[in-house]
Amino acid sequence: MIDERSEDAEGDRPDIIEPSMGERALFICPRCKQKRGVNIDYGYPSHELFEQAERNEAVLGGCMQALGDPDRQCLNCGHQWEIVRRRPLSKE
Ligand SMILES: [Zn+2]
Repeated sequence: MIDERSEDAEGDRPDIIEPSMGERALFICPRCKQKRGVNIDYGYPSHELFEQAERNEAVLGGCMQALGDPDRQCLNCGHQWEIVRRRPLSKE
């Protein structure tokens, strides 16, 4: 009597690949179209992050992300870009 339905939550965010354990999300580079873009990590990096950066799997930014700094870098061609984010309107 129970109508069981399997709910597949696929196709939710096609642009974002969720990182599985220990892996980093990769994004498609707007320049070379390779899925080799990673988030640039700002702030003080962890030991693990340092190792990933040495293996060219992660990109370290500065201590702080200033306005206009890129969010992602392509590990293939080195292109850096900003992600499109919703800017808060300065309205009360
Ligand atoms: Zn690229």
